[in-house]
Formats: sequence, structure tokens, C-alpha cells
Amino acid sequence: MTDFIATRARFDLPEGIVYLDGNSLGPLPRAAADRVAQTVTGEWGGQLITAWNRAGWMDQPARLGDRIAGLIGAAPGTVVTGDTLSLKVTQCLAAALQLRPGRKVVLSDSGNFPSDLYMAQGLLSALGQGHELRIVDPENVAQHIGEDVAALMLTEVDYRTGRKHDMAALTDKAHAAGALAIWDLAHSAGALPVDLTGARADFAAGCTYKFLNGGPGAPAFVYVAPQHQHVEPLLSGWLGHEAPFAFDPDYRPGPGIARMRVGTPPVLQMAALDAALDIFDEVDMQVLRARSMELSERLIAAVESRCPEVTLASPRDANARGSQVSFRHPEGYAVMQALISDGVIGDFRAPDILRFGITPLYIGEDEIDRAAETLARILDSRAWDRPEFKRRAAVT
Ligand SMILES: *Cc1c(COP(=O)(O)O)cnc(C)c1O
Repeated sequence: MTDFIATRARFDLPEGIVYLDGNSLGPLPRAAADRVAQTVTGEWGGQLITAWNRAGWMDQPARLGDRIAGLIGAAPGTVVTGDTLSLKVTQCLAAALQLRPGRKVVLSDSGNFPSDLYMAQGLLSALGQGHELRIVDPENVAQHIGEDVAALMLTEVDYRTGRKHDMAALTDKAHAAGALAIWDLAHSAGALPVDLTGARADFAAGCTYKFLNGGPGAPAFVYVAPQHQHVEPLLSGWLGHEAPFAFDPDYRPGPGIARMRVGTPPVLQMAALDAALDIFDEVDMQVLRARSMELSERLIAAVESRCPEVTLASPRDANARGSQVSFRHPEGYAVMQALISDGVIGDFRAPDILRFGITPLYIGEDEIDRAAETLARILDSRAWDRPEFKRRAAVT
């Protein structure tokens, strides 16, 4: 059922560009532009405040949560959208700590995205209960899961190298030690098959502007396993209240996953995301994964045969990678700027990583070949060695 020619036609990509950065910001789905325009003029413009009811704006967080649930092996009623990933991870961590009051260690790894670690540091210090954030090497996580660990907090796919953790095995290990497992799916949702139910994950969160193509500023999502949905939420906002429009001065958490909502949903962003998710209705995630592996192998083979100056930073085994391929080069930043100026868009992650997102929905063999050829040409000619390619922009 998955037709990658058809999915390619659903995106509005600039002519002549090879876009290998959908792992950071997915491109514009054609339908999203129309859907947002309709929401702006037809709903906001035409219906004004009545659109909260008439156009179903207030139901978007749960409705889109259920759509995302279908992509990550979660049951209906276990996922809700809103806020940002940094906040959703924090809500998960606070909930897990509440469920393991006697334990003081949060275990994470040095491959985790800094914001997850920063938010954990902020939460633990605000709680003031003597919790410790223990950060170990990604390869050593399993051996550090001990009886003192309250929560394992990991990102499944490493944002720099693409290394992929074994979610089911680590979750099992955490449970065997009496700990809970929180998974960040930033580089998993929409990129590879995820089975939160099968892995028995306790909590998960992710963003929708990367592989799900929801657009810049698109809302995050949060998953809470059914058996944990009774927790008291850290962020007790009015839209997570049992009866927001009762305007009761006291907080009472809403039913189930609804209590993970905080405040007013970003309606225009949700409209864009809704249109972006339509594309996944036509996609079998197993087929997508197989295609992503094929394209990744093709890129690695082409780059390794033509570009002796770069080294593979991703695991060589396709099963141990997410849907990106990374290479190291000491002048990685300048090399990436030169690539971008030649129409091949990837990105750079400090200190020396050239990162390429492999997104079969709109990338095929031709794009992979052109990327490898362009990289080889830039390295052979040292075209990157120019001052304008070395000036760092705010976003890399
Ligand atoms: C992209 C990313 C984030 C970003 O968080 P925001 O709050 O959406 O800015 C957080 N964690 C991981 C693992 C990411 O890859």
C-alpha cells in the first residue's frame, strides 16, 4: 500500500533541492498550507470564538493524540498533543518520580538531547528531594539500572549519531529493577515503527515538527500508559482540569490522558499537523523502515567509496540506527554550509558531525546519489574552505 511516488507528490519541496534535514524540520505538506488557510479564514475569520466548539478546536489535542498513537503502538486515549517536547518530557519525569517515591536516581545517557537533561536538572532541583541525575555512556545504560533508579529517561534514537536503543530490552530491565521507563521519540515517531504497548513503556513524549512534518512550532505529544494515568500532573493547567469551564478555584485533574494537557492549544499548528498526518494514513511503517535502511546503506556506500576524509559516525548495522546517517569531518560546519549552498541540505551538530536525515516519503535513490556526489566534489575541491562557510549562524 505504500507508494513513495505518491507520498513524494504530497510535499511542496523547492525545485532542485535535495532535502536531507527532515529529521530536524520536516518539509511542507501541500495539504497543510490549504488546511491552515482554511482554519485561518474559514474558522478563525468566519466563526470567531464559536470555532472552539463548531470547528472542534478544543478536541484537537485528543483527536491528534489518537492519530499519533496509531503510529507509535499506543492505544486510543493514551496520547495527547500540546506544548513542547521539553515540557512533555518534564511532565513524564515528574509523574514517574511520583510513582517511585522511595528512589532518588534518574538514569539517562550522554547521547540524550541536552534539553531533556536540562529539564531534568531543573525539575530535580525544584523538587528539592535529593534526586540525582546520573548520566552514563549510551553503551553502559543497561548495567547501571539498579535498585536505586526511579526512572530511566532515554531518547530512543541519538540525535547526533542515529544510534538506536533497544527500547523493549531496556524497559524490561528497568521494570525488573523496579524502575519506570520514559522514552523520548523525537527521532522515532514517523521515522520507524514504534511499539510502546509491546515494549511496555511507561511514559513517552515526542515532537511533531521532525519526521511527522507538522511544521515549525508544531505541538509535542505525550504518552502515559493506562496503568499510570492516575498520577497528579506536575503542570496543573486549566485545560487539564476535570471541568475547565466550571472555573473552580481548586485544581482537580481531568480523566485519563486529558490531565496532561496544560493550556490553550496552538490551533493553527494543530491544523497543519492534522494535514501532515494524513500522509501517514497511506504509509506502512515497516515498508518505510525497510526503504529508509536501503537508502541509508546506499548513502554510506557512496560516501565511503568517494570521500576518504569523512568517517561514519553512525552504527554500521542498519538495525542499530534510526533514520539518519552521520559522518564526521574536522571542518564539518564549513563542509555542510558548502553543501547547502550547492542545494543539498543536511545539518551540522557540534563538534564535527554532518547529519543527513533519510526520509523515504520524499527522498529516493536520485537524491541520495546527488548528495554523495556533491559531498565528494566539495571535499575534493576544498570548496568548503572559504570564510563565508565558516561563519557560524545561530541555528546550525
Ligand atoms: C528536537 C528534540 C527536542 C526539542 O525539544 P523542544 O521542546 O521541542 O524544543 C528535545 N529532545 C530531543 C531528544 C530532541 O531531539
